[in-house]
Amino acid sequence: MDTTQRFVAKHVAALPKSGIRDFFAIVSQMRDAISLGIGEPDFVTPYGIREAAMQALEKGRTSYTDNRGLQALREGIARYVGANYGLEYSPDTEILATIGVSEALDATLRAVLNPGDKVLYHEPCYVSYAPSVILCHAQAIPVSTHASARFALSIEALRTAWQPGCKVLLINFPTNPTGGTASGEMLAKIAAFAHEKDLLVISDEIYSELTFEGTHTSIASLPGMKARTIFLHGFSKAFAMTGFRVGYACGPAPIMDAILKVHQYGIMCAPIVSQEAAIEALANGRDDMLRMREKYQERRDLIVRRFNELGLKCHLPRGAFYAFPDISSTGLDSMTFATRLLREQKVAMVPGTAFGPSGAGFCRASYSTSYGNIIKACDRIAHFLDTLHA
Ligand code: PLP
Repeated sequence: MDTTQRFVAKHVAALPKSGIRDFFAIVSQMRDAISLGIGEPDFVTPYGIREAAMQALEKGRTSYTDNRGLQALREGIARYVGANYGLEYSPDTEILATIGVSEALDATLRAVLNPGDKVLYHEPCYVSYAPSVILCHAQAIPVSTHASARFALSIEALRTAWQPGCKVLLINFPTNPTGGTASGEMLAKIAAFAHEKDLLVISDEIYSELTFEGTHTSIASLPGMKARTIFLHGFSKAFAMTGFRVGYACGPAPIMDAILKVHQYGIMCAPIVSQEAAIEALANGRDDMLRMREKYQERRDLIVRRFNELGLKCHLPRGAFYAFPDISSTGLDSMTFATRLLREQKVAMVPGTAFGPSGAGFCRASYSTSYGNIIKACDRIAHFLDTLHA
């Protein structure tokens, strides 16, 4: 072992690297591979938003901004969140522009967790959740969800997982990787549980515009919940702006002040050009967002139908842009399935276990790729399944 390893903090050395990235390093080297892997839109950022960024540069907007973000952006966020989520936040004290939901989550966790505090989160889930908690010297407490209940979070599971020292409940609806959403009834139960156990809820609503069935409700809008919720949102998914790296956190002023300190000393501010682009997305990006959502929905319907026809049982995801088929009928575990599919048919899917142990027996297929690519990928998967059965 390289002796410089001794300088690495123990809790960091113990963290595994993200399994997804390794996988996609292989895909990027492979000619002809079809990727149903990466969790980002295949669309280029809509032109109007790019143009706002270009104009910002043209005008020489190249400075730092207020640590909280440009006033115009915070006002835009306040209007957007008010109109779409029924939530009123003050642009002056309750909204912080961040470097994506990634930084918003990290800064929130670092602002509220003491070493040893415990954070409940439902899994399978976004790969960063548990590591982000561990990096705060806190404990990540998973709450398993199951295919039999379409991976819905149950109160019974929450109760079983809860233990003294739990301070935060981290939720994500629509959910990466399952595409699950929470019903109003479920949100009300989660809210009652948060009240009962005095939990701060961190709600990652990054996929909320990409809800296909029903309407999205933020847990922060339920009675009494705004005072114990940090609402996280961003531009990466619905507005196809992953590379701009911009998002935001909203919550009660005293907690936002604490998050601001972490942000101020660690980051300073989100990039000004990205903030200008985000202002445009909020003001005029809706039609483009709806156009992309319609495409995702068409692709979702196609991929889910094809998976089911192929005998890979797949529930209809209600949001985000991921299908989560059950591959257990092949007799392969998810890692072997994904690895062989990639090597033998050059189709990349992410093993469900990358998102936590409850993802065993499943793989994630992102349908943020063209309709034609989905058809080709499914034909290759059909061929792969034939070779398994031969
Ligand atoms: N939260 C979830 C659930 C995600 O799936 C992702 C990205 O895949 C993020 C947060 C990170 O988003 P951002 O690009 O805003 O940092």
